[in-house]
Amino acid sequence: MSERVVRIAVVGAGPAGFFTVEALLKGAGPVAVDVFNRLPAPYGLVRDGVAPDHQAIKSVAKVYQRLLERDEIRYFGAVTLGEDVHIDDLRTSYDQIVYAVGAQGDRRLGIPGEELKGSRSAADFVGWYNGHPDHWDAGFSLDCERVVVVGNGNVALDVARILVRSPDQLAKTDIADHALETLRRSRVREVTLLGRRGPVQAAFTNPELREFGALEGVSALAETRELELDPASEAVAAGDRVRTRNIATLRRYAETVRRAGDRIVRFRFFVSPVEVLGREGRATGVRAERTRLEEQPDGWMRAVGTGDFESFPCGLALRSVGYRGVPLPGVPFDAARGTIPNECGRVLGAEGRPVAGEYVVGWAKRGPSGVIGTNKADAAETVRAMAEDRDAGVFAGSGVAGSVVAGSTAADGGDAGSSGTGSGTGSSGTGTGSRTSGGVGVEELLRRRGGRWVDKAGWRRLDGRETSAGKARGRPRVKLCRVDEMLEAAGPPEGKAPTAVAVPEGTD
Ligand code: NAP
Repeated sequence: MSERVVRIAVVGAGPAGFFTVEALLKGAGPVAVDVFNRLPAPYGLVRDGVAPDHQAIKSVAKVYQRLLERDEIRYFGAVTLGEDVHIDDLRTSYDQIVYAVGAQGDRRLGIPGEELKGSRSAADFVGWYNGHPDHWDAGFSLDCERVVVVGNGNVALDVARILVRSPDQLAKTDIADHALETLRRSRVREVTLLGRRGPVQAAFTNPELREFGALEGVSALAETRELELDPASEAVAAGDRVRTRNIATLRRYAETVRRAGDRIVRFRFFVSPVEVLGREGRATGVRAERTRLEEQPDGWMRAVGTGDFESFPCGLALRSVGYRGVPLPGVPFDAARGTIPNECGRVLGAEGRPVAGEYVVGWAKRGPSGVIGTNKADAAETVRAMAEDRDAGVFAGSGVAGSVVAGSTAADGGDAGSSGTGSGTGSSGTGTGSRTSGGVGVEELLRRRGGRWVDKAGWRRLDGRETSAGKARGRPRVKLCRVDEMLEAAGPPEGKAPTAVAVPEGTD
């Protein structure tokens, strides 16, 4: 086993990034890990994606915080790969690079009217109520009575719940202040979720579905006729606890009588949107075709149009049909799947050959599926591949036989040419003293580029500002939403003596 300190860059400080850090620290050899994050604050979807009324799920951030405090870990918040630091910088400075960037884009429906005002993505809405710096000013006004949510996943349930839940309860959470104010003024009375397939095929999980039955001032409703199961769905449900429970919950909703004055959430199935309807440039409803299920040879239950249509009037249509990865400059990308091509976490370049020293975890690896804990096993698999490669002496840009350098290999949209091909790193060798101190040069590189980043102490200050503002108001934190105010709260990174570093030509 090698005792050489392996310098590792983890790009992305969300759950996948931190479970990777955890596995690396538990691993066999000594490591020095630099965690890069595009936004000033770490924790990714735990901070900006998980719904504010699900604070228990957010408590995993305490585990991440303990990891961040470890001496082997440095934090570089507000550093964008491809802008502040380039992929070739990382290839020069680190032995191993892990992409933990999640899935930053959202899927579209591809139907007429999707561009109308009032037709929005759920991802945008989630970012808005969570105070995500990219979305806090997304401008949701909630001045309509009816909202349609397209999709049957847990994100669809999150956005529906936030729309109907009592603002007084949300006021005890870390929901963004601007969203809380808007929700207090909201005119929304009714939210309808549209599933293009049946209740057995819905992607949401049962605790999240059941929660609607216990929401104060909310009547959750479903239609008995849409809960009748065909034999194939019946068989699937019988062998699956989550689906069995979902059907039982929905049957209860089908028997619920709306309580006077309640807000309503309707669960509708077998309705596939074909158009966002509009008037004078604004969404006025969603037109959907009724569907039936048709079993495919591989067992997939496909929704097939019946030729009957139904319209759902609304002033806001939120599509919640899944996230999608976006390419990183100079990194291979599978445009069809929206992921970084990989085998057990090893990034694959041209002809499916591994890119030496480059790895991927989380949604960027497997697509946008699973809960936060899913990333733990996922990261463990990637870290096993990293350990094997370390023991075999395969490092980033090492040019080891059988490995290739990324960039020239981007499958699609990887913009390989823009940051070079990684040449210049290929001949730098591995296992030398200079490589083990390579990551040190990153601070100097960022300084020379005039960059400003948030280090661990800066994050502590930013975190402290938010949590003490929250304490004064009986809330876990009051979030800062704008990058400039976050940087101001964090303050400049602590000075360290700059160390000489070999900067690849043309990257400065
Ligand atoms: P998801 O679970 O993949 O659900 C996407 C939904 O969109 C599916 O119901 C899908 O239906 C539907 N859909 C896709 N294309 C459609 C179209 N053209 N028309 C109509 N419907 C369409 O995605 P997600 O809700 O974004 O969640 C992402 C991941 O995060 C999931 O693993 C989720 O469990 C997780 N998450 C967990 C929590 C939690 O644990 N509380 C909270 C939020 C998110 P089909 O099945 O018919 O394709």
